[in-house]
Order: sequence, then C-alpha cells, then structure tokens
Amino acid sequence: MDIKNWLTGQKNKNLLRQLTQVERRPDGQLLAPGPASRRYLDFSSNDYLALSRHPDLMAQSSHFLAQAGCGAGAARLMSGDLAIYHQLEEAVAQLKGQQAALLFGSGYLANAGVIPALAGRNDVIFSDRLNHASIHDGCTLSRAKLLRFLHNDLNHLEELLQKKRGTGTALIVVESLYSMDGDRCPLRELVQLKEKFGCLLMVDEAHATGVFGANGGGISEEERVAERVDLAMGTFGKALGSYGAYVAGSKEMIEFLINRARTFIYSTGLPPAVIGASLAAVSIIREQPQLRQDLFSRVDFFKQALAEKGLTKLGPSQIVPVMIGPSSRALRIAQSLRDQGIFATAVRPPTVPEGTARLRLSITRHLSPAALEQAAELVASALETG
Ligand SMILES: *Cc1c(COP(=O)(O)O)cnc(C)c1O
Repeated sequence: MDIKNWLTGQKNKNLLRQLTQVERRPDGQLLAPGPASRRYLDFSSNDYLALSRHPDLMAQSSHFLAQAGCGAGAARLMSGDLAIYHQLEEAVAQLKGQQAALLFGSGYLANAGVIPALAGRNDVIFSDRLNHASIHDGCTLSRAKLLRFLHNDLNHLEELLQKKRGTGTALIVVESLYSMDGDRCPLRELVQLKEKFGCLLMVDEAHATGVFGANGGGISEEERVAERVDLAMGTFGKALGSYGAYVAGSKEMIEFLINRARTFIYSTGLPPAVIGASLAAVSIIREQPQLRQDLFSRVDFFKQALAEKGLTKLGPSQIVPVMIGPSSRALRIAQSLRDQGIFATAVRPPTVPEGTARLRLSITRHLSPAALEQAAELVASALETG
C-alpha cells in the first residue's frame, strides 16, 4: 500500500481521522489548547454519570496506588494475581447476577479474547451487523464461520439459525445498547432464540452498565434475564468513569476463560489505581440510583428541546443520534457546532454503514439544563444551514 496516496485518498473522501488534543476540566467541559484556546460543552464523552471525577473513585484509586504501587508487575497467571482483582470480580458478579466474573485490560481486549476462546474453525457466530469493531475483530480472530444478521432483526437471525446453526458451538453476540444508534437489542426475545437453538449468548453492555437496571447492572438486569445470559460483558471506561472491562458468567465459564482467553492470559493485570476507581464506581452505581434518574431527566429534557425544533426519532437512551447521511455534510455540521462551542462527533463509515453518517450526541451528568437547551438550539440551526 502506498501510504501517502492512501492518506490523500482518505482526505478527499472526508474520511481522514485526526486527533484533537483537549484538556478535560473538572466540570466536564473541554479546553482545546493553543492560541485559539476555548471551552467546549462535551457531547462526545461516555462519562455518562460524571463518575470519572467523583471523589470516592479518586480516593480509592489513590489508596490502592499507595498500597500496591503503579503496576501489577506480571500477568495474573504468573505472579500478578492481586487480591483486589478478586474483590472487584466478586462485586461485578453480584452486580450482574452471575456466579463469577473475570477482568480484562479493556473492552476491546475482552471481546478480542472471549470470542475466540469460545468459537473456532468448526463453529458459527451470529453477530449483529452494528456490533462494535472489537466484537467483529474477536469473530475474525476466532476463525469461526461469521454470519452477520440485520441490525436487531429477529426474523433474519432466526432464519439464519434455522439454516446455519450446524452441530458445533453456536454463539450469538449482541450489544444491549448500541453505541452509535443508542437503540436497545430485543434481549428477552434473543434469550428465547438462543435457548430454542441451543446457542451461547454474549451480551456487550459497554454503554448500559451503570445506566440501566435498578442496581446499574445493565439491560440484562432491567429485563430480568441476567442468569440466562451466558457471557455478560461490560466495561469500566464509560459510565463507571474508570478503565478496563469484565466478563461475567458461570463459575465454569470463567474457569474456561482463564485457561483459554489469550488476551487475559498473555497480558499484564490492570494497574491497582484503576481497580480502586472501578471498585468505588461499582458501589456508587448500586447505592445511588438517583444518579441514573438525574441522567435520564437530562436526556428527556434535551430530547424535548430537540423535539420542539422538529427533531424526532432520537432513540431511547443517553446516546442521541442525529441522522445526517453524507459524510461531508456530517463533518460540516460537526465543524460548525465546534465553532460555536459544542464538541460532538460526526460518526462516519466504516464505523457506521455507508450513507448513514450522523452526529452522535451523548448526554452526561456534566451537562446542565441551560447547556442542553443551548446545544439543542445550535444543533437545530446547524442542521438548517449545514
Ligand atoms: C467502547 C466499547 C468497547 C471497548 O471498550 P474499551 O474498554 O474502550 O476498550 C467494546 N464494546 C462496545 C460496544 C463499546 O462501546
């Protein structure tokens, strides 16, 4: 591949990705450094509950840092298996209504490790078309036959199951809340289908953990199907304000993953400070349901403000997609908003399907009603002129 040509090509197609340096202030606003320094309201972070700056997370993080140092020193199967990992795994298993849990370095590593541990050459994976790249990469690494079903389409999935279930392991993988569309999977029906066809079901709750369920256990808790999900995956880096990921399941499943998931086996344990923050976050989401109510009152307020300006079909969650279509227009609108102090991402292919570029607005507890009102107006006018 000619690198220079490729870069020029991406640029011409409005698909070149670029880093934008920022400083995140304690109130969640962004500060872009440099001579043109200015503040932005951040509509692109996943710190939904504003826990990343919560004093309990910071205190427990500092405490673990002081106690255990900066690094784990080794992979857990070597000499790196600290007691604090087990403490967090027990808390997560309880939160998820599962027997056991296992930590991974990140959500990407969890998906890239768990899927190949379960499915191999003679197996088949049924994966929602809109699943996150890390799920897709896990499927590719597994070398299993990959069948992608139309997004949230149970009929299509059932048709594929009927024709292609085969006799090996069959794994169905979905997200409970889709990161780019903000819509939910039909989890109860998926559980019924996986039981009917004798499959394993893996549910990625990256964006739902902490946000849904009476205890923040996610959509599997809210839908009361937690114990029927074989692999409940989620991350600490979004609503939980920390970093890392988990997979929860039966004792046997977790023992299996300890032996088989290469991204677990061959990778250093998470830093103690990160475990401290995650442990504090898990207690907070269980003990403070008002954080979720507070988030959703902001979400409702924002959608109401957009609806008054004629924008509807904004989905059922804290992730608000505003459909635009062509990548060039999405970029133009995101840039115009940026110029007016709103930091929101234009999500373009290949992250989303061709022709469905969009503005992804994520609502967090950092955003005040006044900020939300102002943003709704700016978004509506940028759409009119952009
Ligand atoms: C963010 C995300 C991941 C990756 O998690 P990281 O901890 O950021 O690596 C995996 N799956 C989904 C659905 C995500 O949104």
